[in-house]
Amino acid sequence: MFRPALVRPLPIQLPPFPGECESSYWNRLSQANRVPLARLWAPSRWLRSRLATADALCILSGQSREHLALTIPDLYTGGLPPARPPIPDDHVQRWACRRCVVARTGWTLPVRVWACVHDEVCPRHNLWIGREVFTPEQQLDLTRTPDVIRAQRRYWRLRRRYGPTATDTCQEATSKLWSGLAHRHYRLNRRVELLHDLARVKGPEVAPDRTAPWRIAAGYPERVTLIGLFASAHWRRAVLNDDLLVVAQALAEFHRRFPLQTPLRGTSRTWLSTTIEATARQIEGLLNPSRGATASTAR
Ligand SMILES: [Zn+2]
Repeated sequence: MFRPALVRPLPIQLPPFPGECESSYWNRLSQANRVPLARLWAPSRWLRSRLATADALCILSGQSREHLALTIPDLYTGGLPPARPPIPDDHVQRWACRRCVVARTGWTLPVRVWACVHDEVCPRHNLWIGREVFTPEQQLDLTRTPDVIRAQRRYWRLRRRYGPTATDTCQEATSKLWSGLAHRHYRLNRRVELLHDLARVKGPEVAPDRTAPWRIAAGYPERVTLIGLFASAHWRRAVLNDDLLVVAQALAEFHRRFPLQTPLRGTSRTWLSTTIEATARQIEGLLNPSRGATASTAR
């Protein structure tokens, strides 16, 4: 079938970034070549290009179909042979690490990628790239808080050891305990102040407000510690044990792994022990329904 080829290769041909969203790649080609996006999509005013998106991208960018299919996950549905599985459920659109972008593309033009929701830190460049990052400039430098970088590695070790289901369940279930501790003025060493100051020195465009990533990055090591503690079936069952001595040892283990800088007193202290127990029971019930039921009737 005759297809009028109205699309010509662009003068500047950027390679796609691994995992790049299709719209991001179109935007970068448009910005690098200073050609409006609308003109890339429909180069002629009289006759719209009949070329499929992937074909048009091949010609414009000078990249092979195979390379585009391998690097841009959105193009799997564009009729290209699937070179690898489609976008997994735990992948979200976010900004690629701005230092990886410069290193790989040679350009500072920001890149949107499909990234795993559990990758919060770029291990190569020590930047926080995960939750609460809404612009590439908001990616926080973690060089002065190496425990946040170590926590990312620890998180992946936990996920490999206990599996995705148990890790996700513990992450979800411990969030209430974590927000309760924050509400009771649990202090995070000097990490909060350090990351807050780093966010502020970046300039007025990064307002160190409640939604900025410094707050969530500062608490990340503790979040991973909580997940690791509750992921251990042995420890959970000790918390839910009938023998009060075993329970006391399990709670002591909690305080050893999760030291509170200012010990909780009175109702807060009671709240902590009941919330630890309720959280352990909830996780046990979700992961091992028969054991969870036994534990809840036993106490
Ligand atoms: Zn990076």
